[in-house]
Amino acid sequence: MLFTETRGNDGIHAGSVSFSDAILSPVASFGGIYSPRNIPSVDTQFLSSQIDASYKALSLALLELFQVDVDTDILKQAVELYDRFDNPDNPVPLVKISDRVYISELYHGPTRAFKDMALQPFGLILSELARQQNQQYLILTATSGDTGPAALETFRQRDNIRVACLYPCGGTSDVQRLQMVTESADNLKVIGIDGNFDDAQAALKSLLASSSFSKALSAHNIALSAANSVNFGRIIFQIIYQFHSYLELLRQQKIEVGEEVNLHIPSGNFGNALGAFYAKKMGLPVARIYIASNVNNVLTEWINSGKYDLSSRRLITTNSPAMDILKSSNVERILFDLFGQQRTRDLMKQLDENGFYQLNNEETDQIQAIFSASFCSDEEGQQYISKHFGRGYLMDPHTATCFKSCELADDQKMNIVYSTAEWTKFAPTIDLAINGNRSSGDLESLNAIARTANIDVPDLIEELFSKPVCHDGIVDKADIEAQILAFVDKSVQS
Ligand SMILES: *Cc1c(COP(=O)(O)O)cnc(C)c1O
Repeated sequence: MLFTETRGNDGIHAGSVSFSDAILSPVASFGGIYSPRNIPSVDTQFLSSQIDASYKALSLALLELFQVDVDTDILKQAVELYDRFDNPDNPVPLVKISDRVYISELYHGPTRAFKDMALQPFGLILSELARQQNQQYLILTATSGDTGPAALETFRQRDNIRVACLYPCGGTSDVQRLQMVTESADNLKVIGIDGNFDDAQAALKSLLASSSFSKALSAHNIALSAANSVNFGRIIFQIIYQFHSYLELLRQQKIEVGEEVNLHIPSGNFGNALGAFYAKKMGLPVARIYIASNVNNVLTEWINSGKYDLSSRRLITTNSPAMDILKSSNVERILFDLFGQQRTRDLMKQLDENGFYQLNNEETDQIQAIFSASFCSDEEGQQYISKHFGRGYLMDPHTATCFKSCELADDQKMNIVYSTAEWTKFAPTIDLAINGNRSSGDLESLNAIARTANIDVPDLIEELFSKPVCHDGIVDKADIEAQILAFVDKSVQS
């Protein structure tokens, strides 16, 4: 598989790169990203041939179709990491909600959110490629809560990789914060900043622009890389489970081979949805992809009207913080795929300069031929959580947004809802929905939910509250660079 730039070429960056180049150096000309030039297609025979395949076998079959330039041996090791999920034989269970609605649970990995689906194998691949090139990398990430823990977990003690993770203090759940600050591996640095996710991202951007920072890193011969959701090394693993969920419906004999299904995706940076887009493009029988948002409904507006408008919006804090995003980075790959480089460059320029672009009618029709969109308020989300808990299913607030989406869908078709986090990650919201409690923190809520639902708080989560904290306090913005460089110095010496 070859990759090309979404915004055309500036004569400096490479215009066409392999998979491994695209994941090690994801930045392309004019602020664009690398996107596949073309994507393989499959037929119903392929689906039939995979009916008995394990998740790992399916992953390898698809990776082979993509012809990525990574040794088969490394790919094998990467997909072996799904053995860390609750049930290695089926890391992504499909659970029935009603005759027409099934939930594909993407959160059974080590950090209990869907980020593990991609970051687990991606971490190993990146580290192995770095080792083959004999190059040290520093990965900078800013997180609103789920990416941070998953990135730390996948890179802990991996060769040739250091991670510095910025998170907004007070902007995450207790569980998410503890997952990060109790990380003890010495190649990981966690920095809490005073502010929200946007401030964390701004701090990261200013680091990337700092010449003293890049000079200090090159003096140590350390290159910068990124593990954020535009990295194609993550997207590729988000195509696989779209196939898996479909195959699960086949295995459970709920559909016939070739029968079209709807997918419902709680969306933020549009990585999960992009995986669905490519799966559909490859030939997976998907009728429509339903994009679920919270009240930060910029994607709903984009799909329903062709207008992407940041100019009149401010970010609103909601109960589904992983979807509190206005500039949804992977949308750019949809523009590129449907409208080409020049148009993508023009549209992204308008967005950067004016905070706004409007697709024409023909383009909007093309988007609407694939996607539908809706948004769900916190109050509505609470009602879905409570209603489905009453019927025996416990879901997190991100997943809940998809139930609004299901109500709008054609129910002649089978609907797959993607569940992106375990209840344990957003306990206070769920406690309020099912018990009416306004608790003082995650631990109280976890215990209250466990009592009501007659289940145990998983050990993995409970243990977080007694683990020693390794990364303490709030770091002043002015000190972030010095702290990361001190961490790098120390790790180079050891
Ligand atoms: C990251 C995340 C999302 C959004 O996924 P995107 O790929 O960014 O659209 C939704 N829910 C949860 C729980 C997440 O962690």
